[in-house]
This record gives sequence, structure tokens and C-alpha cells, in this order.
Amino acid sequence: MHRAYLSLGSNLDSPPRQINNALKRVASIQKSYIVSTSLFYETPSYGPINQPNFFNVAVSLDTHLDPEALLSNIQDIEKKQGRIRSVEKWGARIIDIDIMLFDNITLKTPQLTIPHYDMHNRAFMIIPLLEIAPKICLPNGQKLSSILNNLDYNAIKDIRKI
Ligand code: ADP
Ligand code: MG
Repeated sequence: MHRAYLSLGSNLDSPPRQINNALKRVASIQKSYIVSTSLFYETPSYGPINQPNFFNVAVSLDTHLDPEALLSNIQDIEKKQGRIRSVEKWGARIIDIDIMLFDNITLKTPQLTIPHYDMHNRAFMIIPLLEIAPKICLPNGQKLSSILNNLDYNAIKDIRKI
């Protein structure tokens, strides 16, 4: 059994509903079981383009799939939910599901980079992740809680606090 941590994000077409639909679909991925789900976090959009706020959630998943099979399952969910891949790298999206961590592995293939290549810069990935896994580290041993200390995360709210 492996432990994977996923990041779900949406900023189009009723984001909380999109995240809820994606969570149901993640829960039904073969050979996999959701262990915990974070609160929903509302986050100003990231990157160069002005666009609606994102909603972000982290999920821990126990799985018998390998990383490539897990990626293919989450990409199927993105497709079913009507995500259209735009050329714009950080463009608005109905649903984005990324693998942040998978056990303690480091992997770099054309399809898959684990840990997620930019998670150490993205408070909106790290804050929900720390909620469900407060002591979690990168494979190199760095604690994500100390990485977060160096990021600006004041604008991120868990939506209970709005
Ligand atoms: P982004 O998540 O960076 O906004 P996309 O969701 O469009 O971009 O993903 C682009 C490609 O990133 C996917 O086709 C996938 O093969 C690749 N990829 C590499 N590493 C990961 C990862 N850890 N999780 C999800 N996708 C990844
Ligand atoms: Mg993605």
C-alpha cells in the first residue's frame, strides 16, 4: 500500500461544487481509499493572469496503484469534469488534480514529477496539506512547515473563516 497526497484546485463554474464532484470521483478510484480531506481554502489566483479566486483542497489517499496509474486515473477525472487544457500555463480551470507526494519517492519522467515541481512555492498546496499531515516532509527531509514559514500566505483563508 502506498500513501499519496493530492492537491485539487478549481476557479471556474462553481468551484466548491467542482471540488466536491472531484472528491467523489477520487473516492471511487480503483484500489484506492481516501484517508482524509482538508477543509476548503480560498486562494487568490496564482501567476501572471488576473482571474477568479481558486478553491484548494488536499487529500491523502492510500493506494495500490503505481504513480503512473494514479496520474492516469486523476487525468480521467479532469477530462470527465470537462477540463479543457489551455495553452495558458496558469490559466483558469474547472478542475486541476495534482500529485504532490507519493510515499517518499522522487520521480522525474516526461509525464510525472514527484514531489510536484512547484509545491514548495505554493502556500495554497502546502497549507491544506499541513492540515491533514502536520509533520509531513519532502523526500529530502525538509519539513513543509518550515518551507511554509518562508512563504507569504496571508491571503489564503479556510472558508469557515469568511
Ligand atoms: P498544472 O497542474 O501545472 O497547471 P496541468 O494540470 O495542465 O498543469 O498538467 C500538465 C502536465 O503535468 C500533465 O499532463 C502531467 O503529465 C504533468 N505532471 C507532471 N508532474 C505531475 C504531478 N505531480 N501531478 C500531476 N500532473 C503532473
Ligand atoms: Mg495539474
